Amino acid sequence: MTPDATRDAGLARLADFVPRAGRAYAAERNTDRGPQDRSNVSTLSPWVRHRLVTEREVVEAVLQRHSLDAAGKFVQEVYWRTYWKGWLELRPSVWARYAASVAPTFDALSVADRATYNAAITGTTGIEGFDDWARELVELGYLHNHARMWFASIWIFTLRLPWQLGADFFLRHLLDGDPASNTLSWRWVAGLQTVGKTYLATADNIARYTDGRFRPRGLATVAHAVDDDAAVPPAGPAPVPEPLPRATRVALLLHEDDLHAESLPTLPPEVTVVGVALMRAISWARSP
Ligand SMILES: Cc1cc2nc3c(=O)[nH]c(=O)nc-3n(C[C@H](O)[C@H](O)[C@H](O)COP(=O)(O)OP(=O)(O)OC[C@H]3O[C@@H](n4cnc5c(N)ncnc54)[C@H](O)[C@@H]3O)c2cc1C
Repeated sequence: MTPDATRDAGLARLADFVPRAGRAYAAERNTDRGPQDRSNVSTLSPWVRHRLVTEREVVEAVLQRHSLDAAGKFVQEVYWRTYWKGWLELRPSVWARYAASVAPTFDALSVADRATYNAAITGTTGIEGFDDWARELVELGYLHNHARMWFASIWIFTLRLPWQLGADFFLRHLLDGDPASNTLSWRWVAGLQTVGKTYLATADNIARYTDGRFRPRGLATVAHAVDDDAAVPPAGPAPVPEPLPRATRVALLLHEDDLHAESLPTLPPEVTVVGVALMRAISWARSP
C-alpha cells in the first residue's frame, strides 16, 4: 500500500470499499491475508487519522449503501477511533506521561534488552510472523489490526520489552500513527487501559487468522498486566474552542491531526494565509 496523501485518493478508496463494508466485513475483517490482499478491510486509516476524510463521511457513505444492521461492525470500528480520541482529549496527562517516558525508558534498557529491542525493530528475533510484521511496518507503514495486537502482545509478554518503546516504534512508522489510537491500544494490550485485562497472542489464533501463513513457537503462555503506579486519571472537562477572531484577514494554521478545514463548524470569512505545522513523532532518530 502506498497511499496518495490527498483527500481525492482517500475518497476514491472509500468509494471502492463501500460495497464490502457490510456483512462481508464483519465476517472477514479479522483475517490478516498479508500485504498483497487487504480487500477485507478498508485501509482508510491514514486518511481518517489526518482527517483528510472524516469519520462522518465514512459512516454516511457506508450507511447509504448498507443497513446499520449489516454494517454495524464496520461503524463500530470507526467509532473506536472516535472513542479513543475523546478518551485522550479528556485525559491529556496520559499522553504527556507516555511521551515523557519514551527516551528514559530506552536509556534504561539493559545490554541484553537493548539487543532484544534491536532484533525486534529489525525483524530478526527469529519469531515467525513477528519478524515479518516488523519489516512490513517499516516498509509499508501499515499493519492489519490483528497483526498490531499480536505484535504488541509478543513485544510485551514474550520479548518482555517496555510497551512504551513498542508504541514509539509503531508511531514512527505507521502512516496512521495516532497519539490516541496507538497509545491506548498498546496500553490495552499491556493491561493498563482496561485495568487488569491483557491481550495474549497465541500460535493457534495467529495460524487461524493468517490463513496458516504463520505459527510462531515459544510465545508467552501467560500475560500478567504490566505494573504502572499511576492510576488512570478521571475525565477532565472537554476543551472549549477559542472564539474565531473578528479580523478581516485571517491566517489559518492546519496541523496533521486535522487537514480538513472545510469541515470546521465555521470558517473565518477571509483566510489570507494557510500554514501547515508538521508534528514530529517523539522520536530521537534511531534506525530503522
Ligand atoms: C497496538 C495497536 C496500535 C494501533 N495504532 C493505531 C494508530 O496509531 N492509528 C490508528 O488509526 N489505528 C490504530 N490501531 C487501530 C487499528 O488497528 C487500525 O485503525 C486499523 O487496523 C486500520 O486499518 P483499516 O483502515 O483497514 O481498518 P478498518 O478495519 O477498515 O476500520 C475502519 C476505520 O475504523 C478505525 N478503526 C478500526 N479499528 C480500530 C481500532 N481497533 N481502534 C481505533 N480505530 C479503529 C480506523 O480509523 C479505520 O480506518 C491500533 C491497534 C492496535 C492493536
